[in-house]
Amino acid sequence: MASNLAICRRCRRAGDKLFLKGSKCRTAKCPMERRATTPGQHPKKQGTLKLSEYGKQLAEKQKVKLMYGSLEKQFRRIFEIASATKGITGESLLSLLERRIDNVVFRLKMAYSREQARQFVVHGHINVNGKRVTSPSYIVKLGDVISLSGTTLKNKEFVEGTIDKRLNIGIKLPEWLELDKKERKGTVLRLPIRSDVAAPIEEHLIVELYSK
Ligand code: SF4
Repeated sequence: MASNLAICRRCRRAGDKLFLKGSKCRTAKCPMERRATTPGQHPKKQGTLKLSEYGKQLAEKQKVKLMYGSLEKQFRRIFEIASATKGITGESLLSLLERRIDNVVFRLKMAYSREQARQFVVHGHINVNGKRVTSPSYIVKLGDVISLSGTTLKNKEFVEGTIDKRLNIGIKLPEWLELDKKERKGTVLRLPIRSDVAAPIEEHLIVELYSK
């Protein structure tokens, strides 16, 4: 796993808060709140970098990929599914990214960051509809039930010390998800829409980039 400093550098490079570290991202301890410059030996003030249209499109794609922890191949595949979906491609893209199982575990507050959620999925801690899912890019569907695996539930120290602590923190749950804290499981009530994604994303730039 990358160090704290390296993780926060990704936000400084993107010029936006990517919310990669969970609760710290919402506090004044976030370096982006204190230092609005790009990393490196010759830092520039954010907003003063002049990018070409292509540069802006590339930077936006990179930002969203980093935010959701998606590799290029997966990101491209998700974009293709979004393009083939009825509706606005950029909005479908964000909806599909939100539906990645690692993001859902993070949104359900079971993990403090998407990166930690990804680890939980890869290590077999997460079930969807009672079946173990180990691919972080798995896309959940309407009505899916996300829970801890049976083996994980037997690990009291992990469940009570890590999962339960997270479930009880005061972060608002997205409206498209329902959380049953007692059973430590969540349900997809509806598919996420554009307004469910609060992060500042200009998804049209990504669509323009891939449409060249
Ligand atoms: Fe670090 Fe989170 Fe702030 Fe990004 S948003 S700089 S990951 S604390």
